[in-house]
Amino acid sequence: MDAPKEMEQSNNKFIVKYRQQYYDISEFMHKHPGGINTLKGLNDSDMTSRFMKAPPHSDAAMYLMREYKVDSSEYESTKKSHSKNTSSENGIELLQHPKESEDTNNNQLDESMEHLVDWSKAMLPQIKNITKYYDEWVHKPVDRPLRLFGPWYLEMCTKTPWWVVPTFWIPVIAVLAGLEFQAKAKSTSDVAILSGYILFGVLLWTFLEYVLHRWVFHIKLTEDSGPWLCTFHFMIHGLHHKVPFDPMRLVFPPLPGVVLASILYSPISLILQNHNPRIILSGALLGYLCYDMIHYYLHYGNPKASHHLYDMKRYHYQHHFAHQDLGYGISSPFWDNVFKTRIHLRKLRFQLRWS
Ligand SMILES: [Zn+2]
Ligand SMILES: [Zn+2]
Ligand SMILES: [Zn+2]
Repeated sequence: MDAPKEMEQSNNKFIVKYRQQYYDISEFMHKHPGGINTLKGLNDSDMTSRFMKAPPHSDAAMYLMREYKVDSSEYESTKKSHSKNTSSENGIELLQHPKESEDTNNNQLDESMEHLVDWSKAMLPQIKNITKYYDEWVHKPVDRPLRLFGPWYLEMCTKTPWWVVPTFWIPVIAVLAGLEFQAKAKSTSDVAILSGYILFGVLLWTFLEYVLHRWVFHIKLTEDSGPWLCTFHFMIHGLHHKVPFDPMRLVFPPLPGVVLASILYSPISLILQNHNPRIILSGALLGYLCYDMIHYYLHYGNPKASHHLYDMKRYHYQHHFAHQDLGYGISSPFWDNVFKTRIHLRKLRFQLRWS
């Protein structure tokens, strides 16, 4: 009874060989920033030559690849016992046992830094021990479960499904704007003016999106950055770069969102006190809501090639895996143009699909 089950399991695997190492990328294919369609036909084959011809992969991408390594000898033995009927299609080299003469040590681009921390334990208390290496470590992505706190009740609070954000913020925005409209909109021209203020709030958000992402979330860290700064950085944005495929750590949780909004609102309400600051706030919150939903979509959606979000998805993946000090815009590259941090996307001869 066990045999067919085992067989099924191994058939679900998507094993590729790169240089002298095997990788099981079945869990990774949908996450591959370079698309799922570009991996077609690679199952059970040596992808080295195709990898070389593909657009170059960043150091962060090579680091991430280590996550999917499988034990070569184990794979060889299951391969032998199942001895599938393989044929050479698309000129892709079939898997073979590495020859004695082949260099078996040429894919060690950089040594893993993951021995610095214990992934089976709560991560947040460990950040203070690695401040010297933190900046480098946090920008090397992995694909594994992250636990932030030891106690389950604290850990629970660190996970936010995407739908929590609109469920919380839509009523807040509606009530805030509704009350202001009720009190101030006496004529159609009032409605037009107030709508203009909402639009101003949305545009103000796009600027805040850039400022926060660039100068708060990517605050400059050095070897001398203290334990509190590193821990703070990890909590607000570092973890998203370390575990970019964790869907529960992607959107901003409402509670710290309220705190951040209150901090930002105080100076803005003072400066704009004669300009309907509450209406502007509702517009800014609407802008934020769209930003967070777009960010989630960029990670999990499959936008069509003609769509603005197709370019933004590629753009954001470049920010994650290639140019972490560029490309801070999520909804658009507008402020990256203004501040000269724009990433120019490579023109591809093919379209990418992610599902
Ligand atoms: Zn790739
Ligand atoms: Zn970032
Ligand atoms: Zn992201």
